[in-house]
Amino acid sequence: MSSDPTSSTSVPGEADSKRSSAGRSDAPVDRRGQPLRLLSIHAHPDDEASKGAGAVRKYVDDGIAATLVCCTGGEAGDILNPAMDRPGIAENLPAIRMVELGRSAQIIGFDRVELLGYSDSGMEGTEANAHPGNFANAPFDEAVGRLVAILRRERPQVVITYGDDQQGYPHPDHLRVHDISIVAWHAAGDPDRFPEAGPPWTPSTLYYSAWARARFVAMHQGFLDAGLESPFDQKWFDRPSHDHLITTQVDVREHYAARSGALKAHATPVSYTHLTLPTISPV
Ligand SMILES: [Zn+2]
Repeated sequence: MSSDPTSSTSVPGEADSKRSSAGRSDAPVDRRGQPLRLLSIHAHPDDEASKGAGAVRKYVDDGIAATLVCCTGGEAGDILNPAMDRPGIAENLPAIRMVELGRSAQIIGFDRVELLGYSDSGMEGTEANAHPGNFANAPFDEAVGRLVAILRRERPQVVITYGDDQQGYPHPDHLRVHDISIVAWHAAGDPDRFPEAGPPWTPSTLYYSAWARARFVAMHQGFLDAGLESPFDQKWFDRPSHDHLITTQVDVREHYAARSGALKAHATPVSYTHLTLPTISPV
């Protein structure tokens, strides 16, 4: 079994420790006396903005610290914003995406950003997909070991990751996020697994983030009722519904600006359409 707990890195200087209670004497704690922290695992820079950003912001505003784990650098992402499709962007895309990630994390309120250290696996059939150093091709136990080291260091009570059914968007990195999360979740508290990755820590609750069909159907109708073009095309409606599996909903109406702001911080991969469409609040 191989693992390299030292290989993950963090994005320096972008954390917003003032907004969270991390390190403060009045930080809320669990029954073990550990400060409350949630940890959210994502595949690429921008996923943290499009999946669960409002919920993270809500808990940060409630005084709970938040860690973002980003597994890849998003190097294979397309430049979907015509304003960013200019000289100096494509050749510096990895560095630009890290700056965008730092800004987005700050807006959402993550006080720590941990990079798992892999390159983007791209979609099947692409050049990036064949690269031996990408996330999907990396040794499975190595990736699990890196995540276990982060879980043991960050000591979150709540972990949020991707679900087991990703038919709607089966990107190899998203599938891998789920697979390593489940194994790392079970291994983190087991002293016999990855003993070099730090003292064991058992988180309390694991959530899968999900796209609620009812939500985007309501938003689609909201755009139409307002006489606007809806950004939700047929491929959204072809996605299988997971609504019957949803156990927990968080009211993010007060925190929706964090999601919009974080998405806009990702100026290269977020399409021009998303940047210019009027914002409507979720119903
Ligand atoms: Zn992604």
